[in-house]
Amino acid sequence: MIVIGGGLAGLAAGVALAESGWRVKLFEQRPFLGGRATSYVLPSGEHVDNCQHVTLGCCTNLDDFYRRVGSANKVKFFDRLFFLDPQGRSGAMQAGILPAPFHMTGSFAKFAPLSLGDKLSIARAMFTILRTAGKPKEVDILAGISMLDWLKSQKQTQRAIERFWRVVLVSALDEELDRTDARFGIDVFWKAFLSNRAGYRMGVPAVPLAELYDGCRIAVEKKGGEVTLRAPARGVRMENGAIAAVQFDNGREESADAYVFALPHTVLNNLLPPEIKSANPSLGWLDKIKVSPITGVHFWFDRPVTAEPFVTLLDTTVQWVFNKTALYTDQSDAPVHGAQQYLQLVISASYDLLKKSREEIIEICLKEIRQALPAAREAQLIKATVIKEASATFSPEPGVDRFRPAQTTNTPGLFLAGDWTATGWPATMEGAVRSGYLAAEAVLRSASSPAKFLQPDLAPTGFSKLFS
Ligand SMILES: Cc1cc2nc3c(=O)[nH]c(=O)nc-3n(C[C@H](O)[C@H](O)[C@H](O)COP(=O)(O)OP(=O)(O)OC[C@H]3O[C@@H](n4cnc5c(N)ncnc54)[C@H](O)[C@@H]3O)c2cc1C
Repeated sequence: MIVIGGGLAGLAAGVALAESGWRVKLFEQRPFLGGRATSYVLPSGEHVDNCQHVTLGCCTNLDDFYRRVGSANKVKFFDRLFFLDPQGRSGAMQAGILPAPFHMTGSFAKFAPLSLGDKLSIARAMFTILRTAGKPKEVDILAGISMLDWLKSQKQTQRAIERFWRVVLVSALDEELDRTDARFGIDVFWKAFLSNRAGYRMGVPAVPLAELYDGCRIAVEKKGGEVTLRAPARGVRMENGAIAAVQFDNGREESADAYVFALPHTVLNNLLPPEIKSANPSLGWLDKIKVSPITGVHFWFDRPVTAEPFVTLLDTTVQWVFNKTALYTDQSDAPVHGAQQYLQLVISASYDLLKKSREEIIEICLKEIRQALPAAREAQLIKATVIKEASATFSPEPGVDRFRPAQTTNTPGLFLAGDWTATGWPATMEGAVRSGYLAAEAVLRSASSPAKFLQPDLAPTGFSKLFS
């Protein structure tokens, strides 16, 4: 069994197949595993994540994957989401004692950055989502409708759109509301905020991302397989309509009974020979799947500037601030004294920043951080790094699901994985793991030894059960 690509999709497929007794050979072009959800060491010596990655309680397959590879204890879950606006008003979202879907009602009622009118409009739209268990009829169309259009049809106030829906969804889906399929946006609110009290809990890795994957190599090697790094696949050799071998540098070829290609869709599009594309019409649409950017900004201050583990900023370019010092040192509940502080800032759908220089981005972000966190005004910025990912995720545009192929193909022995394949989920670590599990299930079905890896969604609880 050959897996090409050591991102979460390839790792999930590889680990699942190894656990089923297959000898898996996994090839990754980079010197480390994890793909987009990884970390590496900068030339100046700092260990940084490619970008901060977070998970939610509703990501049941990612949770299962972390458990399988022994990393579940390296992710810390938080019950409280903390928001700050430029006027210094703060608000927290946290489950209270009420059952779902009313568990957030107490903190929502007290949420200062929104007015009563904003809250009533949000409550109305939330009720539509609840009543339809996240599937309002009007969004269930192949061509899709945008989240912004749907919110307007629900008569949302401008501030509710900007300070609530946009804040949650641009970060969760990496796209602006007018370019987001309402199906994805509504699903986020159903799964994370309405159906189950635990769905919104935010999981933040307490270690650099690459350390989450140590157990993958072990799982593969335990069953006689191998993980080869710095091994880019360069081509595919075909014989009689089937894959004869995958080609690597220096004339190396590798053959297997089955192949899972777990590559970004743009890379796959260039790698696959025309013979495979003509046998698989669904692969003809890969270039219709667009991408959207995320910018990560890393700041090292000479002293602590916040005691919060993470903060969401409202009405600013910077969307999230993660206190990496606290998250890594497991002191997130207490201020860090007498030490430097490392913050990571995240800006999703960062189209406007793509054309700006590193210096301009640092200036914008520093100004906003100093406005939001008073302690940062006195602090010295010792070092800063900007990481722009122009193709961070596929864009969840209205109707994009039409272009996402299944994990099975018409070519014997060829299977696909990747967050962009048909999973029903947007481009997330959860979506990537789902695709890997689905590919592994398809491989086993084709070998007449079916097994199940895909985990069910969190079951609705409380009164939400009445609507599912
Ligand atoms: C900046 C940023 C922030 C994000 N934040 C979040 C977040 O907070 N939460 C969340 O859930 N998701 C987040 N995501 C999305 C998440 O990272 C992806 O959805 C997920 O990691 C995709 O996994 P994948 O395996 O499908 O693809 P990838 O991670 O892209 O894996 C593909 C792998 O294939 C390898 N490869 C490419 N070409 C070849 C070749 N020719 N031969 C061999 N190997 C090859 C690549 O090096 C890579 O390792 C973020 C993404 C980015 C970029």
